[in-house]
Amino acid sequence: MLYIAAGHDGNLHNLSGDLPPTESDGEYLIFAYDGGLVTSRAGRDIYDQILVGAPFERCPLCGRGIATTLDHQLPKSEYPILAITPANLVPACSTCNQKKSSKDPADASEMLLHPYFDELGTSRWLGASIHEESPARAEYFVKPSDKWGATFSERVVRHFDFFGLRRQYALAAAGKLATDRLQHAGLLQRVGPDELRLHLQEAAEGFWSTAGNTWEGALCSALAESDWYVNGGMNEV
Ligand SMILES: [Zn+2]
Repeated sequence: MLYIAAGHDGNLHNLSGDLPPTESDGEYLIFAYDGGLVTSRAGRDIYDQILVGAPFERCPLCGRGIATTLDHQLPKSEYPILAITPANLVPACSTCNQKKSSKDPADASEMLLHPYFDELGTSRWLGASIHEESPARAEYFVKPSDKWGATFSERVVRHFDFFGLRRQYALAAAGKLATDRLQHAGLLQRVGPDELRLHLQEAAEGFWSTAGNTWEGALCSALAESDWYVNGGMNEV
């Protein structure tokens, strides 16, 4: 199908023009989505099957929220013929779904990442650094992989900015830093900085190996790399 070929080639934005074939087809497909896929019992089973495809039920767009909705990667208002196309239905949390709304990409650099087609690979592209002042806080950024082309790197950064992931991850990290502070201080006191660093590295590996690029994994790696933190930075007030 055209959609899948375009998705693999990163050319979904070029699908505009020919779709839908007729206005009435488009209206029918939106009706089929709203009235059939979302609300009918049989349709809802299909809807739910696509939804549970999200690893750990996490929203693949932000990596934080719970995927409770299906988002139309290309909006059904602009592409009604894709209203019930499974490859165009992506599990998403309600915040990302709302944020994305009916956004229609004008060119390749404007396209947000499509979880089914945009393979980010196994490289670690999500970075974090620790602000070494009390209370410790983390700042997140994208480290484009050497294997990505310039356009794809732009798209990852755009996705990161569009969904406000820098701020979302920093806020989540602030909460985790506060709740982990006493545990890390205790570890430092009992076993010393080298063992604390090892504990953080192992925690990071757990996240990287099971869930890929997550804000938690990037945070643990950044803490392990911070001499200030593992030598008592968490105790400074
Ligand atoms: Zn989300």
